[in-house]
Amino acid sequence: MNSKAFNPFEMAQAQFDKVADIINLDQPTRELLRYPIREFSFAIPVRMDDGSTKVFRGFRVQHNDARGPAKGGIRFHPHETLDTVRALATWMTWKCSVVDIPLGGGKGGVICDPHNLSQREQEAICRGWVRQMARNVGPVNDVPAPDVMTNPQHMLWMLDEFESIHGGRYPGFITGKPVGMGGSLGRTEATGFGLVYTLREALKELGIRPEDTRASVQGFGNVAQYAIRLYQQLGGKVACVSCWDQEDQTSYTFRKQAGIDLDQLLGITDRFGGIDKKKAASLGYEQLPGAAWIEQEVDILLPAAIENQITGDNVRKMHAKVRVIGEGANGPTTPEADKVIQERGIFVIPDFLANAGGVTCSYFEQVQGNMNFFWKREEVLSQLDNKMTAAFGAVSELARKQKLYMRDAAYVIAVTRVAEACHMRGWV
Ligand code: NAD
Repeated sequence: MNSKAFNPFEMAQAQFDKVADIINLDQPTRELLRYPIREFSFAIPVRMDDGSTKVFRGFRVQHNDARGPAKGGIRFHPHETLDTVRALATWMTWKCSVVDIPLGGGKGGVICDPHNLSQREQEAICRGWVRQMARNVGPVNDVPAPDVMTNPQHMLWMLDEFESIHGGRYPGFITGKPVGMGGSLGRTEATGFGLVYTLREALKELGIRPEDTRASVQGFGNVAQYAIRLYQQLGGKVACVSCWDQEDQTSYTFRKQAGIDLDQLLGITDRFGGIDKKKAASLGYEQLPGAAWIEQEVDILLPAAIENQITGDNVRKMHAKVRVIGEGANGPTTPEADKVIQERGIFVIPDFLANAGGVTCSYFEQVQGNMNFFWKREEVLSQLDNKMTAAFGAVSELARKQKLYMRDAAYVIAVTRVAEACHMRGWV
C-alpha cells in the first residue's frame, strides 16, 4: 500500500530539520545531529541446521552519545535496511532526551526472519552479532536491548557471548534480560503501559473520561497487548486490532463492535503477535482488511505495529470522531499525514514520547543492576508512571505556551537538550 520509496531516515531528518529551524540551531550542530555519529555494517556467517552456511547482514548505528552511552534495540526483520536503523537510532536519541534519562541513541538489526529460523540458528545470529560488535558496544559506550522479533532469550545469548569475549560479568552490557538474570520486573509491560500513561494524561488535558472512549489498535504484539490491558483497566473499549498474517503475507483487522476480549484473543495469538484467523472467526470476530483499523469510528488510534502506517494516502480515511493518536510504534506517521492531523486539531502523542516507557524501564534495569538490588514490580511501574507523566507534562505545557504541534514541542525539548550536551562537551 505505502511502501513505495518510503525512507524512514529521510523522514527522521525532515522532522529534525523542521525543529532545527524552530530553535534556530547553529549550522555545525545541525550537521552533527542530522547524521549518526558512528555506524557499523557487517556480515554474520551462520552454520544452518541443514549443514549449509548462510551469511546474514547485521547493523549497529550510534546516532549520538553526548548525554550518555548509546541505547537502543536490535531488530530481526527480513526487510531491515541501514536507513531504517539510522532513523530508529536517531529517534532513540530524542526519546532518551525527552524523558530526560542519561543515555544517547543507538539501534541495531539483522536482516533475517526468525519465523524461519530454529532456536539454535537464532542463537548463532545473536552470538555472531556480538562477535562483530564486541569492541564497540558495552556498558559505558553502547547498550543494546530487544526490539521487533527479539526477546530476553536473545539478549541473554548476546550477554553470554560478550562476557565470554571480555572475560568477566558485565550485566550492564545489555538490557531486556530475563527477570532473575539481571532483568527488571515491569520491562515486558513498560512500553505499552507507558503509552497508556501518556494517553491518560492527554485525555485528562482534553477533559475526556477514558471510560467514554473507544480505540482502534494497529498491531497485537508486546506494545499493543499491554497498552490494551491498561487502557481497558482505565475503562476504555478496544473496537479492533490489526496484525500481520504470516501465512497470507498480509495484514488483517479483527473487529468486535462490543469491544475485543484481550485474554480471549491472547489465547489464539502466536509469539509474533499474529492472530489465528479461523479461531478468531469462531469467536465472533469480523475479519476486515489490514488497512481498516484506521477507518473505524473511534476516539483514539493507537498505531503500535510498524513505521509508515498513517500516510498522505490514508490519513483522510480517519474517522471524524478521532481525537487522539498515541503512537506506540516508531515513525508510524509521515510528515505529509502530520499536516492533515494538525489541521484537524487531533491531539498527537508523538512516538518518541509515547513509546519511551521501554527505554525508561531499561534505564531502571541499569540502575538496579548497578546497585545489584532489584525493585518490586509496583516500584518499577510507579517510577515509570512518574517519568512518563513528567515528560508528557513538559511537552504539552510547551505545546500550549508556544502554540506548537505536540510532535514539534517534543522535538524542541529533546533536540535542545542534546544540542546543549554537544555544546557543553565542546564538540561543536
Ligand atoms: P512485536 O513484534 O511484538 O509486535 C508487532 C505487531 O505488529 C505484531 O502483532 C504484528 O503482527 C503486527 N504487524 C506487523 N506488521 C504489520 C502490518 N503491516 N499491519 C498490521 N500489523 C502489523 O513488536 P512490538 O515490540 O510490539 O513493537 C511494535 C512497535 O513499537 C515497533 O515499531 C517498535 O519499534 C515499537 N517499540 C517497541 C518497544 C518495545 O519495548 N517493545 C519500545 C519502543 C518502541
